[in-house]
Amino acid sequence: MPEGDTIATLAQQLNTVLAGDTLRAIEVLRPFRWRRKDCVVREVHSLGKRLLIELDSGHTVQSHLGMHGRWRTYQLYKITAATRRRAHLILSNRDYAFVCTNAKDVGVFEPDGDQLRRRDFALRVGPDLTRQCDLDDVVQRVRGTLAPDALMMDVLLNQQVASGIGNVFKSELLFVEGKPVTCRLGDIDDAELRRFYAQANVWLQANVGPGRRRTRDSGGDRRAARLWVYDRAGRPCLRCQTIVASALLGKDARRTYWCPACQAS
Ligand SMILES: [Zn+2]
Repeated sequence: MPEGDTIATLAQQLNTVLAGDTLRAIEVLRPFRWRRKDCVVREVHSLGKRLLIELDSGHTVQSHLGMHGRWRTYQLYKITAATRRRAHLILSNRDYAFVCTNAKDVGVFEPDGDQLRRRDFALRVGPDLTRQCDLDDVVQRVRGTLAPDALMMDVLLNQQVASGIGNVFKSELLFVEGKPVTCRLGDIDDAELRRFYAQANVWLQANVGPGRRRTRDSGGDRRAARLWVYDRAGRPCLRCQTIVASALLGKDARRTYWCPACQAS
């Protein structure tokens, strides 16, 4: 599942290529059909895990990749009927087609008359952790929105209180804060809660741009050394050598990794 840093990086790349460019067409193919021809891209940017394409017509096209969505670039002549059948969204300029498949959600905001929908959308997406965030605001949103018995792993994945944290950073945050996977929101005070999001804010900002995602400064660039516990089940903890555990946990039974010693209850 792409996390906020991946989407912010993608938005930067698409913005570099497309901002100011005239598209031959932008087409939403699923779950509904919508098409504009000969439009100029004003900006491509991200908000949490959503990618927003602003057109000079005033339209905003937004997409959410969810668990399985992806973007690929094709030379225009290589677009086949099969590609179009799979696509949710296609942007074509003179030479290339930028194709989004398997999106969780695609939407279009009209220039006028959609103010309520735009406001509702903004309210549903919390502050974007790939940018400098007001962490006191995030703490208030968490306390005001979520129940004390919510598992911290579910709190961290909640995009309404703060957006950008996905399954990788979830396990990594619980590890560096030394919290067990059973930790609930009501178990921690505001200072600890703020620390979770401060760390997430640092990591998500640092991981925007090219290069592999990492949460550790040392250890070189090997996959096994870039992250503390994620995807390390059955291997020794990088701090204490205890074997890292993993299980499907939380509201949506997402794969979670932890060190039973560093994160003892
Ligand atoms: Zn450990």
